[in-house]
Amino acid sequence: MSLFDKFQPLIDIRAELEALGVMPFGAVTEKLLSATEGIVNGHRVILAGTNNYLGLTFEPECIAAARQALEEQGTGTTGSRMANGTFADHLRLEQELAAFFDRRHAIVFSTGYAATMGMSSTLAGPGDVIVMDADSHASLYDGVRLSGADIIRFRHNDPDDLAKRLRRLGERTENCLIITEGMFSMLGDQAPLAEIAAVKREYGGMLLVDEAHSLGMLGEHGRGVAERDGVEKDVDFVVGTFSKSLGAIGGYCVSNHPQLEAVRFATRSYIFTASPSPSVIASTRAALRILQRRPELRERLWDNARRLYDGLKALGFQLSPEPSPVVAVTIEDRHQAIAWWNELLQHGAYVNLVMPPASPGDYALLRCSVSAAHTPDQIDHILAAFERLPG
Ligand code: PMP
Repeated sequence: MSLFDKFQPLIDIRAELEALGVMPFGAVTEKLLSATEGIVNGHRVILAGTNNYLGLTFEPECIAAARQALEEQGTGTTGSRMANGTFADHLRLEQELAAFFDRRHAIVFSTGYAATMGMSSTLAGPGDVIVMDADSHASLYDGVRLSGADIIRFRHNDPDDLAKRLRRLGERTENCLIITEGMFSMLGDQAPLAEIAAVKREYGGMLLVDEAHSLGMLGEHGRGVAERDGVEKDVDFVVGTFSKSLGAIGGYCVSNHPQLEAVRFATRSYIFTASPSPSVIASTRAALRILQRRPELRERLWDNARRLYDGLKALGFQLSPEPSPVVAVTIEDRHQAIAWWNELLQHGAYVNLVMPPASPGDYALLRCSVSAAHTPDQIDHILAAFERLPG
């Protein structure tokens, strides 16, 4: 027996991939040519698996803001938000996030993971109950495990199942946190938030929604699924990340509850880690301004999403349930998924290979994410790469 025995399945998979000469996990981006093109594992590719939804990673305004912050404030804060790591610009970004979401309070975290894991581990504690969508992101699962609360899962995107579970809780719903995502990361399907909000209104509890993948993508102002469904007032806490549509790294929680200011100082992933670097805060602030100023980015993103979804559908691939900037091809046989991922790379398209347990079912995914920065020609290039896969 050794500590390493439990890693044997992982060791076996790595050996299998190495023997095939395929390296899908931790593929190396050797050079970036733009937000949508690069050289990955030696192949020049269109990047179709980056979550760079608005394509802002090379936006001159963001780069200029980051460069200025780097020169004026240095490379890092070298400390926690709670100690020396709160600079004036962290507070400015919190104010801007609160204003953008039309909420009174906002917390900036060092990563999206720190935000979602931190809030889901802190809001509910021993004696409380968490009722969460079964397909919630790993960071939410990690958080609720740390919370000490009783954890109940409801069937993915099933408000009736949520209602059933809340009904069974009786008065315990007073101490209950309901957790779901706006748009789900793996299949790009959206939570039925209007129905979930109605269930919450009927049975009680507080609602936390992770809008990591829907910020800048949905709703009149780009605030996500809750805005699109007109139920923002029923969502007690919105959490999310700067690492997707805002093109940086970091995370946030916004809320109207004044207690959020106290929760901040109880959240270990806020306290026991260094705060985001000034350059990250600066580019995020610039990206948030652009997200608001240029709604046409959202339109371009959805045009590209529909072009890819419709094209893959016409080619006969089995796809995620609805058109979305996340388009996932589902594949039963994981060996085929690995082979196809590799062929796509050789044909000039980088997508994400996702295997169970990271995929929501017992199947593998070739997960594509499109960007507002993709041109229609680049989307067609991705489609052409899929078309060349052996049937
Ligand atoms: N929540 C969801 C739904 C996510 O998909 C992710 C990242 N994949 C996170 C939280 C964590 O965000 P980050 O990678 O920015 O830490």
